[in-house]
Amino acid sequence: MEGGFVGRMTDTLLPIFDGHNDVLLSVYGWPRAEARSLFARGEKGHLDLPRAREGGFVGGFFAVWVPPDPAARRPDLRPGAEDPEGAEQGLDVLPPAVPQAFALRMAMSLSATLFRLEAESSGGFEVVRDVAQLRRCLDSSTVAAILHFEGAEPIDPELNALEVFYRAGLRSLGLVWSRANAFAEGVPFQFPSSPDTGPGLTPAGKDLVQACNRMGIMVDLSHLNERGFWDVAEISKAPLVATHSNAHALTATPRNLLDTQLAAIRDSGGVVGVNFAVQFSREDGRREPDTPISALVRHFAYLCDRMGPDHVAFGSDFDGATIPDEIHDAAGLPRLVEALRAAGFDEATLRKLGHENWLRVLGQTWK
Ligand SMILES: [Zn+2]
Repeated sequence: MEGGFVGRMTDTLLPIFDGHNDVLLSVYGWPRAEARSLFARGEKGHLDLPRAREGGFVGGFFAVWVPPDPAARRPDLRPGAEDPEGAEQGLDVLPPAVPQAFALRMAMSLSATLFRLEAESSGGFEVVRDVAQLRRCLDSSTVAAILHFEGAEPIDPELNALEVFYRAGLRSLGLVWSRANAFAEGVPFQFPSSPDTGPGLTPAGKDLVQACNRMGIMVDLSHLNERGFWDVAEISKAPLVATHSNAHALTATPRNLLDTQLAAIRDSGGVVGVNFAVQFSREDGRREPDTPISALVRHFAYLCDRMGPDHVAFGSDFDGATIPDEIHDAAGLPRLVEALRAAGFDEATLRKLGHENWLRVLGQTWK
């Protein structure tokens, strides 16, 4: 696994540190699916360590996403509602909130899954807690994982869970997935729509952002509605970050960012990770796997034009979204990089997009 062949292969690839994946849920085996291995090269899903090494995926944010509580499940929900990127009943309606106790149990299970993977990896996979450790991983063939919560449902209003999970390794927190919780409200998935779909942060949400600043936990704005976004922009002392969102001007889903939001992220020194989800990339917002890579290239180009190359990165959403067939999985990342090169992105820009921008932002955010 750590042989020289892999080392040489990696040297020829653009190293990509990635803003978002949902592989933990697949490895844990939720809800009915057979658990997948992170260590064996699979055909299912998008990400495992062999395919990561083939594609130049050197690490990323590994999401703890809390599925709907089966005990609280409404009988009218369609099957498929567990899908992390939508396909809910009625796309204009927010998926139901989940109780904190259930969310905390799931966060324990998925965080434990991440730590077990690290322990079983014989040094091939590390949970990183500071930038020096992240750099060491990038300089070796160790895949680096950031523990990230996609939605703050596991956190109690007293922030006790935040304290404990920080000490365990939590370094990134999305205030919401696309639902409401005690802190903020996410956007639904209807198309087309503005992201201005609901109220801003609650008082507890504002406290949470300040606590994250204090502790050095990155706050992720993806899935947050527009009023919540501006609340965070006003409160947060850290660079503004959306780990897996695209440009609303090209694809008018509420999951994407308005030009005004992109400007605020740029001015804060932050970054946007480009999401590979086809329905956030195509002009018509449809979930068609035969979407060409050029749809993603357009978003990379637009974001770079608007914000400059210091503020754009990758945010694949591997194992959480329908991505273009042409990319297929993590091993297909070089096809996207090649398309970016063909569109005129030079090597210095590609290195920024690939990992340098993430390193800068995390260095400014983590203590
Ligand atoms: Zn997401």
